[in-house]
Amino acid sequence: MAFHALVPAAGNGFRFGAGIPKQYLPLRGKPVLRHALDRLHAHFPLRRTYVVLAPDDHWFEETIGVPENITVLRCGGATRAESVRNALARLEDVASDDWVVVHDAVRPCLDRDESLRLQQALADDDVGGFLAVPISDTLKRLDDDARVVRTESRDALWRAQTPQMFRYGILRRAFALPGLDRWTDEAHAVEALGLTPRGIAGSACNVKITFPEDMLLADAILSAGSRAS
Ligand code: C5P
Repeated sequence: MAFHALVPAAGNGFRFGAGIPKQYLPLRGKPVLRHALDRLHAHFPLRRTYVVLAPDDHWFEETIGVPENITVLRCGGATRAESVRNALARLEDVASDDWVVVHDAVRPCLDRDESLRLQQALADDDVGGFLAVPISDTLKRLDDDARVVRTESRDALWRAQTPQMFRYGILRRAFALPGLDRWTDEAHAVEALGLTPRGIAGSACNVKITFPEDMLLADAILSAGSRAS
């Protein structure tokens, strides 16, 4: 069974507010996306990596070039799910049982241990799953005036991260279903098939760059050097 990586990198990062999409921001000497790709390549036995870009992206070639083992797909959509669906239809030489490892372009700190844990836990799994961390903060639902509507239980609640690892055939069937506008990860699409993806304990250090302070966190995590690359 082969492994293929799919990296959605077609976001424009409005929430971040930089003049450049956050996946191209420099972090300790190289773009965030380069960190994500290097770590994926180091930790998974990949046959090929597909990077999904917005059709008008000019940053990738300027900051990353076009590495040999990477296929660039300029088929990014309006949402992450749309980008992933468009890319799935364009993968080449991929069998139904092959693993597709989907990883956010904006997670530069992926660690070897958690990557191996994910692969080992799912090796014989028919469905697939994702790295996740338990919620530690108290959860409040707020109204439009930022007043508490209620306090939600955090029992059994986890934050789903990437990588998310599923069989190609399952992902293709899932992403053909209606619901694209609601899915913010691949697991949600797979759930729509009536299947039950597995959450594998990861680490809060596998940060997703969303807000400016996340860059500080990622820098600190990488400079601490405790995350095997
Ligand atoms: O916007 P958010 O941080 O949730 O994006 C997660 C990942 O999905 C990022 O790597 C981003 O580039 C990607 N994405 C995409 N197409 C979109 C929106 C986001 O590939 N339309």
